[in-house]
Amino acid sequence: SKLVIGLTGGIGSGKTTVADIFAEYGIDIIDADLVAREAVEPGTPALVKIAEHFGPDFILADGHLDRSKLRHRVFANEADKTWLNALLHPLIRNTMTEQCSLAKSPYCFLVAPLLIENGINNTVDKVLVVDVKPETQITRTVNRDNNTAEQAQKILEAQISRDERLAHANYVINNDDCSIDELKEQIELLHREFLKLVVG
Ligand code: ATP
Repeated sequence: SKLVIGLTGGIGSGKTTVADIFAEYGIDIIDADLVAREAVEPGTPALVKIAEHFGPDFILADGHLDRSKLRHRVFANEADKTWLNALLHPLIRNTMTEQCSLAKSPYCFLVAPLLIENGINNTVDKVLVVDVKPETQITRTVNRDNNTAEQAQKILEAQISRDERLAHANYVINNDDCSIDELKEQIELLHREFLKLVVG
């Protein structure tokens, strides 16, 4: 079956940037966040179940899930969180597996910020970590988004540590002090290695 490479890294490490460059080589990218969002689009069975379980006021006037309301609800209630995860996690996992098997490229990426935190690393063939110093994560996140260094720091601290993430890596891209051209050079080498893995 298809070689699936899990792509992860902390906030602002460069996952999207890296995935976009691999996509230029024609490599199919499956985005875990996107799959998770699509699982609860208006009209999906999962959204119907959520409305049945939590109440119709968890659906916005335009038919979309009120994510903020749901987030607050499960944050305050462990049983609700367990129920929601039991509904969504298998669904999301199955969709990701299906999309990987349908990929047309020689190998594909599963991009997931919480690849290791959610145990998705156990469902892929190899793990590629985009690694940067915490200082770089903060500056790049602050420059990209409209949030403060304190907010970025909080998100960073809620994720697993850099060391722990690296301990799960089969491949590492160093995206510190690295121009986009240098990043592309690293990616070209990796792309060749991955193609070798496929051919055997
Ligand atoms: P998040 O998890 O927060 O969604 P991410 O891991 O997908 O982030 P990106 O959005 O790809 O990270 O990168 C974060 C920011 O850093 C972006 O603005 C991106 O353009 C910039 N960036 C990424 N790599 C480099 C680099 N080598 N040099 C300079 N800027 C970079």
